[in-house]
Amino acid sequence: MTHIYNFSAGPAVLPKSVLQRASEEMLDWHGSGMSVMEMSHRGKEFISIAEKAEYDLRDLIGIPQNYKVLFLQGGASSQFAMVPMNLLRGKNDADYINTGQWSQKAIKEAKKYCTVNVAASSEDRNFSYAPTQNEWQLSPNAAFVHYTSNETIGGVEFNWVPDLTNLGDNIPLVADMSSNILSRPLDVTQFGLIYAGAQKNIGPAGLALVIVREDLLGITVAGTPSIFDYQLQADNHSMVNTPPTYAIYIMGLVFEWLKDMGGIDVIEQTNINKANLLYDLLDSTEFYQCPVATADRSRMNIPFTLSNPKLDNEFLKQADNLGLIQLKGHRSVGGMRASIYNAMPIAGVSALVTFMKEFAAHHA
Ligand SMILES: *Cc1c(COP(=O)(O)O)cnc(C)c1O
Repeated sequence: MTHIYNFSAGPAVLPKSVLQRASEEMLDWHGSGMSVMEMSHRGKEFISIAEKAEYDLRDLIGIPQNYKVLFLQGGASSQFAMVPMNLLRGKNDADYINTGQWSQKAIKEAKKYCTVNVAASSEDRNFSYAPTQNEWQLSPNAAFVHYTSNETIGGVEFNWVPDLTNLGDNIPLVADMSSNILSRPLDVTQFGLIYAGAQKNIGPAGLALVIVREDLLGITVAGTPSIFDYQLQADNHSMVNTPPTYAIYIMGLVFEWLKDMGGIDVIEQTNINKANLLYDLLDSTEFYQCPVATADRSRMNIPFTLSNPKLDNEFLKQADNLGLIQLKGHRSVGGMRASIYNAMPIAGVSALVTFMKEFAAHHA
């Protein structure tokens, strides 16, 4: 088999051992004679898979009992609508922080349901930083405050959690954590709701993970479809209809892998080491540049440019030949982007850094 390191932003690399295990269990899961894909979602086999996945996730992050865990469909984008549908709770306004393309999509969707107050934006500097909380213009009548904890395209990560405690009662903080969930420790009690599409750090595309404080549930906007109602989904263990069973199974294997690795503290340290390897190189030469403010650099998605963009294609071609794939930057940013999620081994980042040094030396 060709050996590659896959730097795709998503769907992204999964742990090799997880894929290996899935392949071993593909035709016959634990002696059941069935593939997980063929199981009834209401049968004891699949129920045990879903329950273990939830248990392991709760254990990994430390999710308190008054939070529901939902495994839904429609990816992270479905949550752009489900959040206002479920969390407006009779109010008409919501605060959003605009730090890039994913925030903008969330804002656009929310505007179908409420008045959006953009409480802070980093658009003035091409979405290259995270606005500090003293710049946020929060509205007292907001139903919730939404931000994107890691902008996958821009490579901007909040290395701090907004503090809404002095806003008075029950203005919950909502975070789109699609591209940095499980990459660092998390105090769930600081949030009203956390959501994430699975295809970056969790598993197969299509699955959305939602962690929500239960007292926020129960009131939806008129016309909310049943499968988009968090309360109904919570009451039915995310099985109002058939859930994405195979995706849930793979996600469960990823959680087991994380626990075997030593949990979130251990993976965070590896993530810091991986990101430092790359940022140290970017900062040590004029040949490469990183557009993101130093304090707000993402550990997961690292965009960079070559000083001479005429070399971009040559860079990508040579990288590809070495098995360092999917490094082309998002079309809106240009240049390159290395996504180095939990499942990217440090050897992959080392191989990239070695290649980048050689490429720079050759073309200096
Ligand atoms: C990938 C991504 C999304 C969209 O996920 P889909 O599953 O394609 O809907 C939303 N937000 C962030 C931060 C992302 O990285």
